[in-house]
Amino acid sequence: MDALKAAGNEAVRQALHSNCSFAHLKLGQLSEALDEANKCVSAKPEWSKGYFRSAEVYFAMRDYAAAEKSYEKSLSLSLDDQTIKKRLSLTREALDGFYFRQLLPGRDFCLTPSDIIERQIFSSAKQMQNFVYLVGDAKTREAVVVDAAWDVKGIRAIAAQDSMKLVGSVVTHYHFDHTGGTPPPPFDALGIKVPGVRELAVEDNVPVYINKFDAETVQISNDVPSSAIAKLEDSAIISVGSIKLHFIHTPGHTPGSQCILIPRPSQDLLLSGDTLFIGSCGRLDLPDCDAKAMFTSLQKKLASLPDSTRVYPGHDYGGPYTTIADERRKGFLRPISERDWLQQHRM
Ligand SMILES: [Zn+2]
Repeated sequence: MDALKAAGNEAVRQALHSNCSFAHLKLGQLSEALDEANKCVSAKPEWSKGYFRSAEVYFAMRDYAAAEKSYEKSLSLSLDDQTIKKRLSLTREALDGFYFRQLLPGRDFCLTPSDIIERQIFSSAKQMQNFVYLVGDAKTREAVVVDAAWDVKGIRAIAAQDSMKLVGSVVTHYHFDHTGGTPPPPFDALGIKVPGVRELAVEDNVPVYINKFDAETVQISNDVPSSAIAKLEDSAIISVGSIKLHFIHTPGHTPGSQCILIPRPSQDLLLSGDTLFIGSCGRLDLPDCDAKAMFTSLQKKLASLPDSTRVYPGHDYGGPYTTIADERRKGFLRPISERDWLQQHRM
């Protein structure tokens, strides 16, 4: 700290305390980082940055109540600062405990291609309108990514920006637009591989949670190491911190399609993959589809969920979400006999 002693200039002294706090924080030396942040605040109590530094340390210590106070103080001295606003909102989310993001290609990721191949992949993602989800515990900062495909670097960057650690990759079903890998004919001839669960399994060492009936297809077609595949049964539950993910096997669109129910105190969430969309259901005309199984999945399993359950589908086909009540009233959860259903969906 000789540099500090030599610094006669107050402004330089404050900046040095601020920079030292940042450097200690990056090295994981939290008590030293807090000490420097406090020195910065004492040296110049009217400077927003000092409080921001202490807030960042409290956030890393997971003392979210103290972090909230410091971010609020920092914001009161720098009202238009978007970074402080974003960090304050992350802190309030941490106090609540639930982390949830719905990501859309072209809006949240698949934004800036680095080469001609990526340009083609991002452009396809925007046409397909796949939703990718991040779900986790905002206190422990752990999250899983649901249906990771198209732009793994972009998905990772969002998690990192939110100070979340990716601890798993969840797959609603094996189709390449939800998992990455080789696209179906005729696009397979182009030799383009879409990034997805393989990159997360191999480079980030996170397990791939997938229903047992779709597991082998993903393992082989995406070349995922078998040790990274966690095969799930119907009614499996996994924990991400204190957040529970309940898996419901909903075959029909594929043999191993699954929906993920996340119980919340105010309103349960259902990630419905390509099983249930707003006003429709996933395609039933592909080789692996089963209209009879889809009838049971929709009419017996999903239709029996509470009306208030908010449904987040696997594609943006007309909006970000719906509810079980709305789909029972005007969508594909409307009561129908199996005979009528099969007549309507006979292939
Ligand atoms: Zn699909």
